[in-house]
Amino acid sequence: MAERAAFEEFIIADEVSDVEKSFKNLLAVLGLEDTQGQGLLLFDHVRERLTPKLNFGQKRLFTNLSAQIKKRKDLTTSQGLTAMICGAGPVGLRAAVELAMLDFDVVVIEKRPTFSRVNIITFWGETMNDMVSLGAKVYCPNILTSGDIQFMGTRQIQLSLLKTFLLLGGKCLYGQEIFGLMPPDGAVNQWQGRFRPYAQGRRLKQMDASTAAVDFNNKSEVPQSHTLDQSFLAPSNMESDEHRIPFDLYFVAEGSWSDSTRKLGFTKLIQKYNPVIGLVINCKYNKDNPLEKNMKSTIHHALNKDFPLKSCNIVTEFVEYLKGDTHYFALVVAKTNIVKKMSQEKFDEMMLSESITDDVKASCKQSTRKLHFDFIFFKIILFVNSKLFSRS
Ligand SMILES: Cc1cc2nc3c(=O)[nH]c(=O)nc-3n(C[C@H](O)[C@H](O)[C@H](O)COP(=O)(O)OP(=O)(O)OC[C@H]3O[C@@H](n4cnc5c(N)ncnc54)[C@H](O)[C@@H]3O)c2cc1C
Repeated sequence: MAERAAFEEFIIADEVSDVEKSFKNLLAVLGLEDTQGQGLLLFDHVRERLTPKLNFGQKRLFTNLSAQIKKRKDLTTSQGLTAMICGAGPVGLRAAVELAMLDFDVVVIEKRPTFSRVNIITFWGETMNDMVSLGAKVYCPNILTSGDIQFMGTRQIQLSLLKTFLLLGGKCLYGQEIFGLMPPDGAVNQWQGRFRPYAQGRRLKQMDASTAAVDFNNKSEVPQSHTLDQSFLAPSNMESDEHRIPFDLYFVAEGSWSDSTRKLGFTKLIQKYNPVIGLVINCKYNKDNPLEKNMKSTIHHALNKDFPLKSCNIVTEFVEYLKGDTHYFALVVAKTNIVKKMSQEKFDEMMLSESITDDVKASCKQSTRKLHFDFIFFKIILFVNSKLFSRS
């Protein structure tokens, strides 16, 4: 049963290089090396050769994916078109899976060489259903797929979608960043993406500092517009470490800090909030480590006498939070700073304003009461914690 063992190795792989290696091995064991990256042709061959060797639960992955492909059968005339997706975050990979099911040739390029994100994303029920229909429960058996709060870690989302994307015959290149687009010329009749090995901060260094700066002074939704950077699209000689990918469709999925959308002159709507200084550290939560196994999410009383913020008037909270495979620390400005400011100046001013409806005023009063209540509750937790800590 070499085929089943190779499949199981692929299912449990949990880093980019292991997924790539185990997938290559699976194709070799099935005698399908030549079909890698060849779209639904690969999926059909893998399903045909592999499923007779799998148990009932494992077969269900292929039954589900076949049903998803069938649903889309009449929606597309995409044969032969290549979609290039830049960014293998949740959005890029979900788009890649969709396009692969619609029978496009899809290539995804991602600058990071590993799944380095450990934050978690809370889902709507339909998002979880979608992830399950694409195999998430097979790759990550421990995720909770029902209940009030459903969530997956970003790396679990990426891991699941990448594996399904590979099974659907997609190509994914890690450790490469896009740095330009090459217009059609005499030699190649299509637009091409220009890529080179990712070096941290290289693109930023080349960017003028005022373009890179983020203005946090305006609170609200602000459209941020840019002018097209012609050098991003200029024909150019091939650089030594460069390679090019011809495409018919180009998807920018580089996340909110995308540099390409800026260079392509997109207007983006940016949500800005009051500036808050904080420190967030995202680590991997390893339950196999005996020291971490019995830990609980908690708010710490971290402000000892020598703590630098002790001497100023800002109260801070230190939260340690454990969920999924995320171990998250956040040192943030406490709610009490905001409550004080709100209750004395802004709140009264807001309540007098005639432009605000009675409904809104009522709900503001209610949430302010809740904030005060939360604050009192928080103080009690701090008090109890400090007593406990001072005893131990
Ligand atoms: C610390 C932190 C905590 C968060 N917590 C939550 C939370 O609790 N709940 C929630 O819903 N959301 C949370 N978010 C937000 C969430 O991570 C994003 O909304 C989500 O990841 C967006 O997905 P995306 O695919 O659009 O972008 P991203 O996940 O940012 O993916 C974009 C990808 O594109 C790649 N890329 C960028 N530029 C290039 C280039 N030039 N060439 C090649 N590749 C490129 C990047 O490396 C990245 O992998 C958090 C974010 C952070 C940073």
